[in-house]
Formats: sequence, C-alpha cells, structure tokens
Amino acid sequence: MISIPISAVQLGANEESLVLEVLRSGQLAQGAMVGRLEDAFRETTRTRHAIAVTSGTTALVGAIQALDLEPGDEVITSPFTFVATLNAIIEAGAKARFVDVGDDFNIDAKAIDETISRRTRAILPVHLYGYPADMDEILTIARQRDLSVIEDAAQAIGATYRGQPIGSFGLGCFSLYATKNITTGEGGMITTNDDRLADRLRVLRNQGMRARYQYEMPGHNYRMTDLQAAVGIPQMHRLAAITAHRRRNAGLLMEGLAGLPGLLIPQEEPDRTHVFHQFTIRLTEQSPLTRDELADRMAEQGIGSGVYYPRVVFDYDCYRDHPQVIADPVPRAEKIATEVLSLPVHPGLSDRDIGVVVDACRSLLTQ
Ligand SMILES: *Cc1c(COP(=O)(O)O)cnc(C)c1O
Repeated sequence: MISIPISAVQLGANEESLVLEVLRSGQLAQGAMVGRLEDAFRETTRTRHAIAVTSGTTALVGAIQALDLEPGDEVITSPFTFVATLNAIIEAGAKARFVDVGDDFNIDAKAIDETISRRTRAILPVHLYGYPADMDEILTIARQRDLSVIEDAAQAIGATYRGQPIGSFGLGCFSLYATKNITTGEGGMITTNDDRLADRLRVLRNQGMRARYQYEMPGHNYRMTDLQAAVGIPQMHRLAAITAHRRRNAGLLMEGLAGLPGLLIPQEEPDRTHVFHQFTIRLTEQSPLTRDELADRMAEQGIGSGVYYPRVVFDYDCYRDHPQVIADPVPRAEKIATEVLSLPVHPGLSDRDIGVVVDACRSLLTQ
C-alpha cells in the first residue's frame, strides 16, 4: 500500500462552484470560462495571447503546424522527454532530430549548432521536470539561423528564466493533464506574443474556420470545454502558493538528501526558478542501490516514486526506423535514463511526509 503517492490532485470549493456555474448555464463548450482561463495564462506568462486547446500534445501539434513547415523540414528537440514531444513532431509532419542533454536534464544548448541542417526550421526545448532550459543560448542560435522556437512547457507553468516567464520566449505549449502542476483533467494552452501565429492558431483550433462556414485552412477540433476551464481557473489563481509549496518541499528534500554516496540531487542556477513538477535524483555507480532497487525498497515502505523516463524517447522499435525520426547519438541521455528517480514533491505532502521520504532514502542508501 502506497501511503505517500508520487502525485495527488488538490481541488476545492472554488473549483466545485465554478463547475456548477457552467453546468447550470447549459453552455458547456468553449465560451466565457475558456476565455478566463486564457486570461490567467496570459497574465502568468506575460504574453499577449493564450489559446486553450484539448491537451499539451495538441498544443505542440498546433504550434508546429502554425509554422507552415514543408515535408522533410526538421525540428530539433531533446531526446530525454515524454513521448508526446516526439509524437507531436511526427503528427505535424516534420522530422525529429535530437541534441543530447546536460546535467540539468535539458537540451545542451551549446551543442545545438552541430545538429542544424539546411532543413532545420525550429528548436523545441523541453523544460523538463519544471526546470527552464537555457533560453538565452537557444534564442541566440535561433536568431542567427532564422529558426522558430517552440517551448515544451508542459511541466513548467510558473517557471522563470532570468526573470522572464517560461512560455513567453516563442510559442509556449502547456499541458493541463491530471498530474501536471495545474490540471483540468485533460487540456492544453499555447502562449505567444506573435499576433499572426496566435490568429492562425485560433483558426486552426476551430476547423480552420474564420467566420461561420468561411474556411481558411484544413483545421482541427482542438477546442477546450468550459467545464474543464472552470476546473483550471481557481488553480491558476493559487499558482504562486502551489509553486511555493512545491519549492518548499524540494528544499527540504535537498537538505535532507545532501551528501549521500552516489546520489545527485537537482541543482537550481540562480538565474532560473524551478517549479518542481518532479524532484528527480540520480543514482550513479557509487550508489549502494540501483535506481530500480531504491524504487522497489521505497515502495515496500509505502513511498511512491516514478521513472521519468526509462529510455531515450526514440529508443523503441516504432521510432527507430521511422522515416520522420533521425536517431542522433545521445549517450548522456541514454545513461541518465538508467539513473533517474523522481520522489514525491507535490503540495499535498506535509513536512512529516517529506521527513519519511528523506529518512527512508537515507537509511536505504547508507547501509
Ligand atoms: C504531459 C506532457 C506532454 C503532453 O501533454 P498532454 O496534456 O498529456 O497531452 C508533453 N510534453 C511533456 C514534457 C509532458 O510532460
């Protein structure tokens, strides 16, 4: 029996009353509530536009499609990410290329240049676990090579890089899936300061329709419902407190786990704020237990944990020989994938829960 789970949803009276308001209005599809959720995202990311969609995956697909790529055009991303990042590139008709990650688990921005080809059109960094990728370096390369930037910010709502909110550096793609820092069950959001792309995305989301029966492009139904938006709005108003609680839990974990042999704890550079969607440790060769052994032993003590992610994203038969996937060499990501373990850090945990996690880790790794 797991008594300290890896994630937990916290919804309250405000969510209930807004959802009830939508139910009683009889207007369930995209309407005023979706508008309010978009406003909350515009405010948080300090962008001019926020476009609500059905998921983080469709946010990414839409963002890539809005760039109007040609078949064979390439998008460079991280090999160490959730599979949706890769699926979105394939779905949008582009080719995926990969640049290895650094010790912060994010794309190694300094190495991107070597992977750029004649066909490269966009860089798609992932702010993994809620920690910002090196955006200055990425924007510099993008400017020099005339590339678009799409941020996979699915795990990073509220994070900042040099004081600037994640999601405001290009096209920001957020997920509102059940386990993310803010959730509507399923849902997504695209943020941008680009008026033209925002306009295209709004049309794309609604069957490519500008006005009734006036079609401008083959579109989709990516519309969010007002029911879902009503669940997200109160959470967006609590975002600062939610993030502060995650950061406090992470601080306690960092303090408690410092100095254990073979255990690496997450680092935070002074110019970025981590929103700790996950608190992810690494167990190196010096550790007395492997990653899988530690996870099993903790589960025996009722402590949940998670492996995000066990393999490099394209290291599966269905991608290895896929014509839209170029399997660039990524040795660091391959190694890291065998070492990572995410520990509970969500705001549903008390200081006592965190103490239990720390004590279990410490005693398992020092015997
Ligand atoms: C969750 C997630 C997505 C996909 O979001 P969905 O809402 O589940 O479609 C994409 N990228 C990353 C890094 C994610 O964590």
